[in-house]
Amino acid sequence: MKKRISIFGSTGSIGTSTLNVIRSHPELFEVSALIAGNNVKKLAEQILEFHPRHVYIKSEEHQNYLKEKFDSLDIHFGTQGMEDISNLTDYDIAVSALVGISGLKPTYNMIRHGKTVALANKEVLVAGGELIIHAAREHHATLLTVDSEHSAIMQCLNGERHNKIDKILLTASGGPFFDKEITDNITVEDALDHPTWNMGAKVTIDSSTMMNKGFEVIEAKWLFDVEPDQIQVVVHRKSFVHSMVQFEDGTIIANIGPKSMEIPIAYALNYPNRLQNQIEKLDLFQIHTLAFEKPDLEKFKCLKLAFDAIKKGHSYQVVLNAADEVLVNAFLESKIKYTDIPRIMEIMLQKHTGEKLDTIEKILELDQKTRELTLLEMEIH
Ligand code: MG
Repeated sequence: MKKRISIFGSTGSIGTSTLNVIRSHPELFEVSALIAGNNVKKLAEQILEFHPRHVYIKSEEHQNYLKEKFDSLDIHFGTQGMEDISNLTDYDIAVSALVGISGLKPTYNMIRHGKTVALANKEVLVAGGELIIHAAREHHATLLTVDSEHSAIMQCLNGERHNKIDKILLTASGGPFFDKEITDNITVEDALDHPTWNMGAKVTIDSSTMMNKGFEVIEAKWLFDVEPDQIQVVVHRKSFVHSMVQFEDGTIIANIGPKSMEIPIAYALNYPNRLQNQIEKLDLFQIHTLAFEKPDLEKFKCLKLAFDAIKKGHSYQVVLNAADEVLVNAFLESKIKYTDIPRIMEIMLQKHTGEKLDTIEKILELDQKTRELTLLEMEIH
């Protein structure tokens, strides 16, 4: 029987890569639901090609447009529509790739139904943290990941579950400033010039500050149940080693391969089996060397703040995530300097006093409050 896939965020880069994998393997997969935000044209094309049973689009106007084109299709919209479509259960794997904190509640709903969810949305674990992990355990949901680093770690741990992890070696490209000085004069253009991966603006800025790696450290902590001092960020600028795990006997298992998001996506969709693809294989003789370097936590302050936030507890991670989104957007709009991102973020963490977050509503409330307070803090400075 074919696996039925639901894609939350079908028109984004993870969503379209997921559909590429599905297109290449029609004998294995079919689409159950497609969930999109504003790109109704692209969603309409995807509906024509993949024939989902359910779709979601954010606005009512777009829903009406789709209704005229596809009269027998189950179409949802708005806040209630997102609630409804994320509570359906007629699929085998959901890819959670909505952008931002809006992905948290729908993913939580799927987990509470005990489903298998492949995570691409960072906020699910960075903001959802403890609550998501507890819900997954309680409802026997399976959490997979399509993030290249976490997929690599998952693969390194295959068959190793009973062996004690000494360290997770999470690789990072280092971003555009690894060899350069970070100054007040860094422009949006400088920061958007990422050396190895092609991504959206927010995540590219997060890569340049290494905040993105900080979020991945938090995700690794929750996904693999390790302490922060068991996670070492390793800068590997060629991005061929996707991450490694070191065991107590000193053995390091590494995941090495081509740079393509379709590989971790295909691995999650067909877990635990691999899928053949047309992606060019690595030529180790051309790569020649694999160099590893240690990140400077004083220079990449955001990365240090992420480790601090893990030690302080879940609510600090929510603050870190919300403050970062506000600060990165402000930088992209040239409202603050590049160096204000870590500086104001540190202030936000210092001002936070810790909260117990035992419901999604409490997380969303703290997220919203932090966004408002970060804007206020920006005005003061
Ligand atoms: Mg990554």
